[in-house]
Amino acid sequence: ADRQAGAEWNGVGETADGHRVKILANVGSAADARAAADAGAEGVGLFRTEFCYLDAPSEPSVEEQRAAYAAILAPFAGKPVVVRTLDAGADKPLAFLAPDPEPNPALGVRGLRVARERPEVLDRQLAAIAAAAADSGAEVSVMAPMVATAEEAAWFAGRVRAAGIARAGVMIEIPAAALAAREILEVTDFVSVGTNDLAQYTFAADRQLGAVAALNDPWQPALLRLIALVGEAARATGKPAGVCGEAAADPRLARVLTGLGITSLSMNAAAIRSVGASLAEVGFADCEAAARSALAGER
Ligand code: PEP
Ligand code: MG
Repeated sequence: ADRQAGAEWNGVGETADGHRVKILANVGSAADARAAADAGAEGVGLFRTEFCYLDAPSEPSVEEQRAAYAAILAPFAGKPVVVRTLDAGADKPLAFLAPDPEPNPALGVRGLRVARERPEVLDRQLAAIAAAAADSGAEVSVMAPMVATAEEAAWFAGRVRAAGIARAGVMIEIPAAALAAREILEVTDFVSVGTNDLAQYTFAADRQLGAVAALNDPWQPALLRLIALVGEAARATGKPAGVCGEAAADPRLARVLTGLGITSLSMNAAAIRSVGASLAEVGFADCEAAARSALAGER
């Protein structure tokens, strides 16, 4: 039986037989970070830095960014926090990183593609993140949004390491990146699957359009097969692979993702206890069985 929200959870993400899956939070503000810490998150799996600047008319200075990030990192001293570099464009436009007009912004210059056109903006953000990490004592790693190839991942990881940040990862949210997960993990320290965009691009269904919302369903076997490739790549390379899209907040899907080889789940604070409790009441073999059923199209 599925546990209800608010069921018992001891605060350590693991199955009943001790298979560890970290339960992390998605945050975009200091209020989110406090709520996540209060909810018992083991860390932050996705800090959406662009949320700090949706209304900013110009690029914030390194010192402004440092202060904003440090305030969000503060509740997580000694804990892991994954900071995502600016995911500008499409559904999250930033005035200071606006591209030339594009017919299809979701397929245009967004996320890491902006950083490659404006590497000085990325380097300033990385300097601010490194300083905020030192201020807060959080165990900070950095990841890039909207990565399509291992070459892009390697470029980003090089930039992160040059900024003195130890751990560099990328999001898997483009189908090509899921298909290249092995090569991407070989040049990074971790990956995290963004199921919101991975579904959008897999089903060619705009995530903001209600008319195609039924296609953007993370239980769809085609999406789960892509996630399975990422889980297999994580096992083969011995590196972590998280999920930080909305799929991670579904207590039953959390078991499926665990069975597919995903090693951490990151979600809104409200989902943390019910996902933690859901994993705690089944064994890893049950998760693998749930994954096999879901891959076959059963719910
Ligand atoms: C995702 O695409 O699943 C994701 C976590 O990133 P965002 O929702 O911010 O695009
Ligand atoms: Mg995304």
